[in-house]
Amino acid sequence: MAAPWEDILRNQPAIREAAAVAVDAALLEGVLMRTEGEPNASDVVNYAPFTLLPSAIPSALFEQAYAVQQDFNLLVDAISQNKEFLEHTLASTIKVDDFTARLFRIHMQVLEEGLAQSVFLGINRSDYMFDCGADGTPALKQIEINTIAASFGGLTSRTAAVHGRVLKVLGKSKEASCLLPNNPSKGLALGIAKAWELYGSQNAVVMFLVEEVQRNIFDQRCVENELWNRNIRVIRKRFRDVFETGSLDDAKRLYMDGQEVAVVYYREGYVPKNYDQQNWEARLLLERSRAVKCPDIATQLAGTKKVQQELSRPGTLERLLPGRAEAVARIRATFAGLYSLDVGEEGDRMAATAIADPDRFVLKPQREGGGNNLYGEELRQVLEKIRDSPERTSYILMDKITPQPAVNYLLRAHSPLQASECISELGIFGVYVRQGAEMVMNKAAGHLLRTKAIEHADGGVAAGVAVLDTPYLV
Ligand code: ADP
Ligand code: MG
Repeated sequence: MAAPWEDILRNQPAIREAAAVAVDAALLEGVLMRTEGEPNASDVVNYAPFTLLPSAIPSALFEQAYAVQQDFNLLVDAISQNKEFLEHTLASTIKVDDFTARLFRIHMQVLEEGLAQSVFLGINRSDYMFDCGADGTPALKQIEINTIAASFGGLTSRTAAVHGRVLKVLGKSKEASCLLPNNPSKGLALGIAKAWELYGSQNAVVMFLVEEVQRNIFDQRCVENELWNRNIRVIRKRFRDVFETGSLDDAKRLYMDGQEVAVVYYREGYVPKNYDQQNWEARLLLERSRAVKCPDIATQLAGTKKVQQELSRPGTLERLLPGRAEAVARIRATFAGLYSLDVGEEGDRMAATAIADPDRFVLKPQREGGGNNLYGEELRQVLEKIRDSPERTSYILMDKITPQPAVNYLLRAHSPLQASECISELGIFGVYVRQGAEMVMNKAAGHLLRTKAIEHADGGVAAGVAVLDTPYLV
């Protein structure tokens, strides 16, 4: 699995020169982030952290990840429409997890009122790592699927150009020409544009629902620009703005300051800290509206860790995707072992197994955004404390995936240049649009490779742990 530049990894002068070129190339290409100190102003910006070199990825596994993406799109969409499945699967979780419970209550309320929305837009990212089996053969294993606010599709559309430049500077022009083109920002925008068109009101706008703290704005701007290029108006609003100026008319059309909204694209709203009472009210207003939500609340719930664990039970995929045996097989092939900690015999057994052998597992709460999972000794301690309490049902257990590390340099503003042992996580963006019962778009829209030093068990790019990367297929 080695990349063809092992020879230069320890050549310090060459690496230093390439790093300087890389940083300037990143700034030129727009691989940008606002600073931690001034997250809401663009006067001074940084480059987003990235690897100096592309990472070697087995081409067969890369292709496998692309090949299963349309299946995952269908699966997420099917779950979102299956009230009984969501109700049954999340029943134990919502007893102990207040955040999931609140989302679920909005879901039920909207269904009881009757859905005003008839066009559905899904943008997700299915993330994988390359598990090294006993014989050293890597296998594609899904970490999770993100069904809300899946980010970095914009910036990653620009990283291949940076890595291409670095390889050339290092005398690897042939390898540079092998880097794959990748443009998720365009693919995501095509989905949003399709949903906007099907909504059917020329004057309506697309609303990006954004955070209070907007460090990653350039990633969003990449998608936004693609929409402006298609003459679709984009506005950026926070929950707070929706609470203050949002309204529905008799037909449940959504208006912001008198402007009709066709599509709401959430880049916020996936963790409890995004919500106060007013924000929950704003979320409810949006969900009740006719506007196309990306995602609607049912699709957000389809992306919970608890749903992921339930999908791995024998027979569940077959029930959700009847008559699609091949899709089911492709999906199942990517699953790692996932285990319920629900109250009962099965949960008792798994809790005991994980306490006895914590390094085999990851303990995951129903949270997104990185930094929430528990590993090793901490996993053991927490599980021991809650093993006899219903609280344990707010977690799931997953087999720990162990990829083969590779040496790379992680470039971060104000950090020293040093070689690190790294592992990578590949994400594939999926986009689909459904009008009523008809799927009108179902695509894989590009990829994201994120790489981190092995000493960090957890955490994404936004959390300051992983960095952007480009796959080099081997
Ligand atoms: P989040 O919703 O917080 O992103 P993830 O399930 O993606 O939750 O986990 C966060 C990070 O933890 C991943 O990016 C990965 O680095 C690590 N991780 C998650 N699951 C596993 C696993 N089964 N084995 C090894 N590492 C994992
Ligand atoms: Mg994740």
